[in-house]
Amino acid sequence: MVSLRSSGPLAVGGPLTMHLGGAESNVAIGLARLGHRVAWVGRVSDDELGEFVLRHLRAEGVDTSGVRRDPDRPAGLMFLERRTEDVTRVQYHRAGSAGSALSVDDLRGPLAAGPRLLHLTGITPALSDAAHQAATWAAREAVASGTAVSLDVNYRARLWSREDARATLTPLAGYASVVIASADELDLVAEPGADEATAVAALLDRGVRTVLVKLGADGARAYTRDGVTHAPAVPVTAVDTVGAGDAFTAGYLSGQLDGLALVDRLHRAVTLGAFAVAGHGDWEGLPRRDELSLINGSAAGTTL
Ligand code: ATP
Repeated sequence: MVSLRSSGPLAVGGPLTMHLGGAESNVAIGLARLGHRVAWVGRVSDDELGEFVLRHLRAEGVDTSGVRRDPDRPAGLMFLERRTEDVTRVQYHRAGSAGSALSVDDLRGPLAAGPRLLHLTGITPALSDAAHQAATWAAREAVASGTAVSLDVNYRARLWSREDARATLTPLAGYASVVIASADELDLVAEPGADEATAVAALLDRGVRTVLVKLGADGARAYTRDGVTHAPAVPVTAVDTVGAGDAFTAGYLSGQLDGLALVDRLHRAVTLGAFAVAGHGDWEGLPRRDELSLINGSAAGTTL
């Protein structure tokens, strides 16, 4: 998706800057920067905007060989409007976009390559019936062939209602070994109105191995059958919180792929979350592996 950012109210115009946006591509870039082999799969428009998306992903070392160019549909757009210094608003133009036409056929080849992990978000199934079917098919196929599935609930109120999201995402969560949510998203993968303990217990009962609850500046909680672990956030000066959740997810999944213990996976997750909020842009400030220790909770300063 192409994200267009304004520095002031959209209604009066002014310069827009063009960026790569999208939760899944943020996670893919986060993992690639840490040195993991990662592919992003989806559909992009067969024009300059599609080229822009692919060019960025490739530049970040993300494999795009499974991406389909769609000659009949436009790129999905997101406007990020800085309405006031403290208030940003989001507007989507993605109905009928290339990305929304994602189909089961688009995913067959990439899944047949046998990845260790398939990461899905709750955004894809919100885009269209075809995309919903594709995401569900991919999760089922992945589980059947021994590929672990992670699901970030990533609720987008502009795309669907909480009821519709719950009806779709609760069954999808049953395929996941890792479910990631903000505290206010947990009841979208459980009974309506379920509190955190009830929602987590239901997910663990259904076979989810780890439930991660993101808590913004308070860090995160991880639930497993063995109990709950809290990871405090890494203290940084937050300048732009968009993308923190995706960075957190990339950090956690990186730790999982590296075979780290839960507490170390969480540490990597909150470290990436801190990198995301401490820099501008959704993914631009994410660290390479040799930069992980730049933010470590101790006093910031100049490395000479
Ligand atoms: P978004 O939707 O904006 O990507 P989110 O709601 O999915 O964000 P958050 O809980 O805001 O996710 O942030 C994810 C993680 O990033 C947190 O668990 C925390 O580790 C880190 N984080 C977020 N805000 C801060 C902050 N102000 N300072 C340090 N770390 C932060």
